[in-house]
Amino acid sequence: MSSRAHCPCCGAAVAGPAHFEHPGVPRLLNVLAASREEAIAAPLGRLELVECASCGTVFNRAFSGVAYGPDYFVDATLSGRYRAQLDDVSDRLDERISHRRALSIVDVGAGQGSFLKHLAARLGSRLACGRGFDPAFRPASASLPENVEVTSSLLDATSARTITSPVDIVATRHVVEHLQDPVGFLASFRRHIAPPFTLLVETPNVGHTLAHGLLHDFCYEHCSMASEAGLRAALEAAGYDSIEVGTAFDGEYLLAFANATPGGEQKRGDAGANRAAFAGSLAELGDRFAREHRQHLTRTRARGTQAIWGAAGKGALFALLVDPDRDLVDFAIDIHPGKHGSYLPGTGHRVVSPDYAFAAGVRTVWVANPTYAAEITALCAASRSQVDVECVGDRTRPFPPS
Ligand SMILES: [Zn+2]
Repeated sequence: MSSRAHCPCCGAAVAGPAHFEHPGVPRLLNVLAASREEAIAAPLGRLELVECASCGTVFNRAFSGVAYGPDYFVDATLSGRYRAQLDDVSDRLDERISHRRALSIVDVGAGQGSFLKHLAARLGSRLACGRGFDPAFRPASASLPENVEVTSSLLDATSARTITSPVDIVATRHVVEHLQDPVGFLASFRRHIAPPFTLLVETPNVGHTLAHGLLHDFCYEHCSMASEAGLRAALEAAGYDSIEVGTAFDGEYLLAFANATPGGEQKRGDAGANRAAFAGSLAELGDRFAREHRQHLTRTRARGTQAIWGAAGKGALFALLVDPDRDLVDFAIDIHPGKHGSYLPGTGHRVVSPDYAFAAGVRTVWVANPTYAAEITALCAASRSQVDVECVGDRTRPFPPS
């Protein structure tokens, strides 16, 4: 089965023209560039997004893979809003596993181990052992508790041999959207780790993206953006049962739990019965997103210095879609000190600290991810500067919903 002609989640055949195309966006948005020249020269990839008519999943059929290395940099843990999300996921996991003791967990795509570290603090002595796997793990800059260990590799047949005791939970957060074959990936856990175990999957929710008009969620790295029905279909196809798919982070993420039981088989469910409510809106969004935001940013530019708040994937892709020549936005703001002085890949907007931006008299900030709007509005208010906070996204369906 060709992954390009079929939905990666539900397997339905997908034909016809793409619903949104872009000739070249940076292949990696979470790699910091040390100079503007380097940022502008970032390797590009083609977006050819199609929306599955059966389950509503959106995927890039022109995706040809990206190489993740130790320079891949994602760390949202300095945000209180994000830490509250980690608390929520930890507590919902706790509920699902019925408060069992001495848990052993494997995190696939563990990054720097921040989720395992968070779980260790949240669950205390109930977490016996946490094992993470991530090829981009940088041991030198990680500080992990004694019962947590991260290996710099994928979870595969070889690395799985280092897991010597039974595993209660397998977690994979923000990984499946990076894969052309999420079903094969999810099914592989059942080969590498002996069931029974509980699976936790967290991934962006394409229903939220489309409902709030956030076209800049569709970065090159996110080649498979699942809908609720799509994620359910993928878990069924990968042989899991007792599947529960809900949302988290004000609807921005899907959070799924499922059970792997001995003898579970790969099968294809009927995703059509759960067709996503927003399916069919990508083409319309793609048609107007850049034009409408350019109009808004031209208007707010008249007030004075203007910035994008958020120098991760969403901020960088928003800049590329709306301000590719840097004529409307002066710089990007991020709270992470590790990003200050770097440049957004693709456009070369400089990344500065909130303090720098306030001192420079920033007058309007455009929040790249509206989920952080309340936190950013509070930071702006505390600065005592006169700053207007605007949110990227659909102004007819403002976010968060009241
Ligand atoms: Zn589908």
